[in-house]
Amino acid sequence: MDDLYIPDKKLWSKIVNQSIEIQEENICKSSIQFRPELCRYYKIQNRLTIHRLLRLALVNPRLNYKLLVMVKLGSITIKDGQCSICGCHSTDVVQHLILYCEKLSDARNSMFYGIVDVLPVQESVRFFQQDDSDIIVALLGGITDFMQSVNSDNWSNKMCCLADHIFHLYGKFKGELSEHRFNF
Ligand SMILES: [Zn+2]
Repeated sequence: MDDLYIPDKKLWSKIVNQSIEIQEENICKSSIQFRPELCRYYKIQNRLTIHRLLRLALVNPRLNYKLLVMVKLGSITIKDGQCSICGCHSTDVVQHLILYCEKLSDARNSMFYGIVDVLPVQESVRFFQQDDSDIIVALLGGITDFMQSVNSDNWSNKMCCLADHIFHLYGKFKGELSEHRFNF
């Protein structure tokens, strides 16, 4: 308006849409970014776009429900509590169940073997060299620094393999999630 410039309708529509998208994205980011209990979710899904696991579900309809379970596991809050499966107290119940609970080690080990089978050797070694908070982000579909170097086919294969394994693991601990009153 200052320049007395009036763009054509198509361009104006584009400008308005972009402004709205930027504003919506900023609102979304600011509502998540500074909440420590949502820091895992923020690492997994920090943009206002369709979740990458839901995009994967579109081309793998057989895995729809399993991928949805992974999306939900990645979005629930971080909170502490006692695991009634093994009796241990942890500061992050979901991370405990997926990575540490000793009573779930068989299902977890077969998940890890699945990753080793599906990724090239170098990549699977680097996958397990990540710290635990990045491993769980990568298991639940987030793109960590290491995952950025994995090509999209390997990423898709890994996530499809994980969908089966994590769903199997989830079957063993889903009672625990309701015990801790997670909104699942
Ligand atoms: Zn446990």
